[in-house]
Amino acid sequence: MIYHLCTECDQIEPDSEWIIEWGNKTCKHCRASNKYELWPSTEIRELFETIQKYNSESFEYGLVSSVFISAALELLLERLLFKMAIKNLLYDEVGHLIEYLLDSNQGRSKRLQLYKRLGYGSFEKEAKESGYSHFLKHWNEIAKIRNKSVHGDIKEGTKLKSSLVESTISESLAVFSRLYNKYNTESIRYDVATESKRNLAKDLERLKTWKKQVVRDIDLDADD
Ligand SMILES: [Zn+2]
Repeated sequence: MIYHLCTECDQIEPDSEWIIEWGNKTCKHCRASNKYELWPSTEIRELFETIQKYNSESFEYGLVSSVFISAALELLLERLLFKMAIKNLLYDEVGHLIEYLLDSNQGRSKRLQLYKRLGYGSFEKEAKESGYSHFLKHWNEIAKIRNKSVHGDIKEGTKLKSSLVESTISESLAVFSRLYNKYNTESIRYDVATESKRNLAKDLERLKTWKKQVVRDIDLDADD
């Protein structure tokens, strides 16, 4: 499935959730038109695409796909942690501190612990709440196969089925986009977008009151 990130409000939605208005692709969150880019970033998409094109019958399929998928999932987690940490802060002011925080918490298990500290609960709990209760279990399975394979146990890789790889890729996109959206609603860029929406709503209200006033005035004039 193809996902797009709105460059105005930073929310991510699958292609099917975008509204087509007068031939324009419109964000359902901030109504910005044609302001989007492909999500996730090129490097992550390329890792997934390489696995999907790889011959699943080959002996080294498990090794290659477990290494690639693990790298992609860790990058997705890193981007999400960055978003969670920056919340209402400005990149110029705290960006370097967050980079440092991520650098000092390398590896999957440390990063998942960091998630718990920054978020509203464990990654497992929040992934479950987003509707994908098996995602972390699948990720754990793949990470285990990756660890054994890269340490020389190539046979371990043969346990990895392409169906598990496929479902983990689509689950990861769904889970990470939902969690990203959840934490993004607290970020600055989203506030800016919603602020302009609120102002528009106020202007419309004012316009309606003004219209009512004019109608009333005309009615009064007519009564005279
Ligand atoms: Zn938007």
